Amino acid sequence: MRAFEFVVADSATAARTLVREVPGARFYAGGTTLVDLMKSDVERPARVVDISRLPLSAVERRGDVVRIGALARNNDVAYAALIETNFPAVSQALLSGASGQIRNAATIGGNLLQRTRCSYFRETRWRCNKREPGSGCDALDGFNRSHAVLGTSDACIATYPGDLAVALTALEAQVVIEGDRGERTIPLSEFYRLPGDQPQHETSLEDGDLIRAVELRIDPLYARSHYLKVRDRASYEFALVSVACALRVDAGAIAGARLALGGVATVPWRAAAAENALIGNAPGDAAYRAAAERALEGALPREHNGFKVELARRAIVRALRTVAGGAA
Ligand code: SF4
Repeated sequence: MRAFEFVVADSATAARTLVREVPGARFYAGGTTLVDLMKSDVERPARVVDISRLPLSAVERRGDVVRIGALARNNDVAYAALIETNFPAVSQALLSGASGQIRNAATIGGNLLQRTRCSYFRETRWRCNKREPGSGCDALDGFNRSHAVLGTSDACIATYPGDLAVALTALEAQVVIEGDRGERTIPLSEFYRLPGDQPQHETSLEDGDLIRAVELRIDPLYARSHYLKVRDRASYEFALVSVACALRVDAGAIAGARLALGGVATVPWRAAAAENALIGNAPGDAAYRAAAERALEGALPREHNGFKVELARRAIVRALRTVAGGAA
């Protein structure tokens, strides 16, 4: 690991100033992504700004909104009654990630900013447009079993690796950001950027921006939500495919639906066309299969990841069955 300066911030304003003073400086909260990447020489910040002592860890209700502080720990959020009751998919997504020890250290804000698990990104001898813009992408013709089939470009096919953001995308969360223009709130669906020809830019954050919180609106639809994660082993593994969904049925017909996918796309993937396909239909496999077809339209598999397309379709059907009450 390279030498770096470690500075402790005592306020959000000070933290943002400290980061802006040094190009490439990074905020440090739980450290579960950053330290790994510094050890492998992928991240090389000259300054690391510790924000872990800022008062941003509350999970609280404000009217019909639940606000989750950016420094709240993953396990604390997963087991918070406000989250378990109103947003079960969020709780399930958090508990499906990493290990208990890591969830005790990792923070909500940091979780949103975790980097891809593409092995060509994490090993510096390979060409990677995300790590070194313009250098090429060795995953395109390499071993790309874990890579994305949706939202890809000729420059990058890396999968967005997280669980939490997939659930938050389905449940239409907002991100609260403090920047030079004060505080602003943006939908999570606008937070992540497709790789295009600039895969190094992963979010809409600007220099010195600090995530303060995530907000979720309380809605009976979200209270009936579910997160399904399919992976190579039962714990401490990233998703091959994941599905976050919510369903409301009125008078025998689907009246509300939310669906997002993980493990198959370059960003948390909201499947709006599939949601629309569900509306008005009777709950059941016929409707779920039709929605699953819509969700995977436009998928572009590479040599080793074609299996994800059918796996995702089946996972969608299974997740919708579960959230609808287990009807086969
Ligand atoms: Fe880098 Fe993206 Fe290619 Fe992976 S898929 S090597 S992250 S450019």
